[in-house]
Amino acid sequence: MKKYNPAEHQFETNAIHAGQDPDPSTGAITFPIYQTSTYVQEAVGKHKGYEYSRTSNPTRCALEACLASLEGAKYGLCFASGMAAMTNVLSLVKAGDHVIASDDLYGGTPRLFNQVYAGYGIEFTYVDSSFTDRVEAAIKPNTKLVWIETPTNPLLKITEIRAISSLTHRHKLILLVDNTFATPFLQRPLDLGADIVLHSVTKYIAGHADTVGGVVMTSNDAHYERMKFHQNAAGAVMGPFDAFLTMRGVKTLALRVERQCENALHLAQYLEQHPKVERVIYPGLDSHPQKKIAERQMRLGGGIISFEIKGGLNTALQFLELVPLYSLAESLGGVESLIEHPAMMTHAAIPKERRETVGITDGLIRISVGIEAYEDLKKAIDAGFAAI
Ligand SMILES: *Cc1c(COP(=O)(O)O)cnc(C)c1O
Repeated sequence: MKKYNPAEHQFETNAIHAGQDPDPSTGAITFPIYQTSTYVQEAVGKHKGYEYSRTSNPTRCALEACLASLEGAKYGLCFASGMAAMTNVLSLVKAGDHVIASDDLYGGTPRLFNQVYAGYGIEFTYVDSSFTDRVEAAIKPNTKLVWIETPTNPLLKITEIRAISSLTHRHKLILLVDNTFATPFLQRPLDLGADIVLHSVTKYIAGHADTVGGVVMTSNDAHYERMKFHQNAAGAVMGPFDAFLTMRGVKTLALRVERQCENALHLAQYLEQHPKVERVIYPGLDSHPQKKIAERQMRLGGGIISFEIKGGLNTALQFLELVPLYSLAESLGGVESLIEHPAMMTHAAIPKERRETVGITDGLIRISVGIEAYEDLKKAIDAGFAAI
């Protein structure tokens, strides 16, 4: 049978087929869960490419190949969580090195940087990376890595990946993009000059709120060698069943994200004209200060909306409690709509003054828009506003 070649196919097709040729021994159409720790060898060192499942597992390898094809990467490496994927990337820096990071990151990222890696002698500087000159000004002789997230969480600020990558190329720095919020369907950082892309697959890629995982992708041979070594050495690998769930989820990534973006745009437009709403942040709205950049590097505006409700903390908490349909929960990117309060939930670890300066106010609410019928999502918002 002819082997599937991702280079000959489009995104939607690769999401279903890349890395997943039918099982030659049984013909199973769905890639099997190889729930095994070890592999029988015919003679010492004579095996079929698998020796031990921490090092390689067929189900994980299939997912790694599939995800790599979606980002246009040569290599993918899957981990037990997005945070485990981050610790893998940090194997590229050592004591005495300096890292520049966006100042509006996923909450767990600065926690890992400041409370774990800073103790190992790695230095971190946070800047608003939507200003390329601020990133440039932060470069020091020992800078090795620039770490950006775009759109950011929860303020949906956009960093121009191409501008930052031309800067990092000039200074011979590694550029990592946490592409969790955009997904490879909307934005492909490697095509824009980034060196490494990272995802929490827990979110859009797996997409059904049923597993936790992470992935790192690159086309750079040297970075891959180091990270593959570290994946095996440190061992925070994704298990075969989680790889299977992720592979099943990713087959519908394009369909899901397209619908999420459509729902999100309509909902953002609706919220923007609502009398009980102070302001709406959504990269697809004309009112978003970086809409032009978003249009250049993202196919659509994404599935996350942040908005500030009039009346501050108490009104926000009341709304969150009373709005039907939207489940009050952390996380994002699943088929179901979720709602949350960044200041007291996902971003509670950030000191209050710092939250206020960056714009994570007490009235700010974040919605991860799902694939439900738009009319139902709008009706639920109306019911929430009517109840407060
Ligand atoms: C959730 C998230 C992470 C962390 O991933 P886990 O799978 O929860 O470990 C990292 N970055 C972003 C942008 C996230 O949303």
